[in-house]
Amino acid sequence: MCEYVTLIVGDGLNTLLIALLLKSLVISHVVLTGLFHVGHPLSASTARIRALYAGYPDRYPEYKICLEEAFQEYKLDVALTDDLKFYPSRVDYIIYSPRGPLQDFSPYINAKAIFNLQAGADDVAKNPTLPPSVPLARMVDPGLREGMVEYVVGHVLRYHLSMDQLWEKKNAREWQPRGMPLARQKTVGILGLGELGSCCANALVGLNFPVIGWSRSMKQMEGIRCCHGPDGLISVLRASDVLVLLLPNTKETYHILNRDNFKQCKKGVYIINAGRGSSIAEDDLLEAINDGTISGATLDVFQTEPLPRNHPFWRHPQVLVTPHIAAKSRPNSASKVIAENIKRAESKRPLLYLVDRAAGY
Ligand code: NAP
Repeated sequence: MCEYVTLIVGDGLNTLLIALLLKSLVISHVVLTGLFHVGHPLSASTARIRALYAGYPDRYPEYKICLEEAFQEYKLDVALTDDLKFYPSRVDYIIYSPRGPLQDFSPYINAKAIFNLQAGADDVAKNPTLPPSVPLARMVDPGLREGMVEYVVGHVLRYHLSMDQLWEKKNAREWQPRGMPLARQKTVGILGLGELGSCCANALVGLNFPVIGWSRSMKQMEGIRCCHGPDGLISVLRASDVLVLLLPNTKETYHILNRDNFKQCKKGVYIINAGRGSSIAEDDLLEAINDGTISGATLDVFQTEPLPRNHPFWRHPQVLVTPHIAAKSRPNSASKVIAENIKRAESKRPLLYLVDRAAGY
């Protein structure tokens, strides 16, 4: 009968081997902790980097294939798991969705970066368990950019070509030919000239629309009249026939379109909001549509999502509601962005799409 109990703490393959050796020599009773992790495929993996997928569980099978392909393409030795019970202190990178299964980052004491799978940063930037020292990157992939350009250009053209009115005429069997304006006669204003706003602006310029844009910092973009600051906002509102919002949700952008600013708009402007619902004071928008200041609105984002069934937007004839579908990241292109960012993080280079957590976007 042995007299000692040995406590071996660890979760790697070596720990298991030592424990089994001691046990076979009957040197002591061996108490193994972390047995769960010993059996975990990642613990046995010799991969240098460990990544945890904490996005939506139903999307993991597709992401797993795409991420592993991307890691291979970028020559990254990464072991990937979606098992949240895997020993958190061994996780290097977290691939994250705001309403996914992981909300508490505090156990991930060695995480080198968090990669949000969404373009917006508002849901995660404010998470109090996320240490300020851990870099947070958001997702902008080619699929997201293309989707947003198609959504914005499509609805700008819908308004420009009076498609809604043409449907009404068709339903009333009214044959009323009239001259159609050209794009060069309609100004499109874009609030937010970031990754998505600038792509939309360039696409619209390519169709001959005069484009005027607004951002927080001063910008210079070929073919686009760039404005910033409070006076810049007024210039954009006064000039725009169609006004596109691609702003993030921050304290400064909250209700940036409100009763006062609607009064500054060119009469009859159309609004397209594909950024965040918080940018528009919804009651003020309804009021401005009803008094004719605004001709109509296409809204993809709302203060409350899903949009409550009794919300007046649903039944308003001049409001088109789309259920936050303007643009989505695609696993194959998003995985390459994540691989590129891991490569950058491993070689201590700046991450792509790093969130400025003080600014909130
Ligand atoms: P981004 O690259 O961060 O660009 C944000 C733009 O807004 C920048 O030009 C920024 O100015 C400007 N801005 C921020 N605060 C401002 C302020 N106080 N005053 C004036 N301008 C301000 O973001 P993004 O990738 O283009 O995406 C924009 C938003 O679209 C995201 O935040 C996300 O919420 C939303 N989104 C929606 C969908 C959808 O399906 N509906 C999909 C993807 C993204 P600076 O350039 O000076 O920084």
